[in-house]
Amino acid sequence: MAESAEQVHARVRAVADEHGRVPLPSVASWDVFPWEVVDGALAAKPLAAPGPEEPREGEGGVDCAACADGPRGVIWANDRWRLRHLSERSGLPLVLILEPSAHLDLPDLDDAMAAEHGVLAVRIARVVEGLPNIARCHVQRIGDGAEHLHTWFMARTAGLSSIRGSFAVDWDDILPPGPEDVWLGDLAAVAERLAAYDGRAVPLDD
Ligand SMILES: [Zn+2]
Repeated sequence: MAESAEQVHARVRAVADEHGRVPLPSVASWDVFPWEVVDGALAAKPLAAPGPEEPREGEGGVDCAACADGPRGVIWANDRWRLRHLSERSGLPLVLILEPSAHLDLPDLDDAMAAEHGVLAVRIARVVEGLPNIARCHVQRIGDGAEHLHTWFMARTAGLSSIRGSFAVDWDDILPPGPEDVWLGDLAAVAERLAAYDGRAVPLDD
């Protein structure tokens, strides 16, 4: 069962500094991070000059990690889709990625696959939001980094008011990961409940 807000708060405060802060995550140094400190005050960075689009990983199916490496961290699959976890635990209770088995981007899905994507998104959100201590399962597709469709499902702890809204993505990088046994238990619960609809739960040590 996912940690309660009180358990998360106590665990984070135990490793935080005297002001309650944990170290700045690496995302703060990324060029796309939109904020910077100017003369001691937080400011938006200047908009960079226009330029060519950065190539995405796996464009045209060439050197696609999702295809070449085979599925890793998969917790559930059917004939056309798989749901996997990130290779490492992160700050939010669960971060899951739904992707097609075939090399397809979102606009590439035919109507049948698009319908399946929608049904699966609803089922995953329903299952994750049904876990104890989870208030919300955020669903998003961005796709600027890699061409192979990967739709994100990010679980937010109930009762942690700092982590509401789209900044949950940032908190996933900020917060230290929770206990591994809790994470594994939640992954197994999600896989089993999804398999009750369709597909199969994949053992976590596969
Ligand atoms: Zn691919």
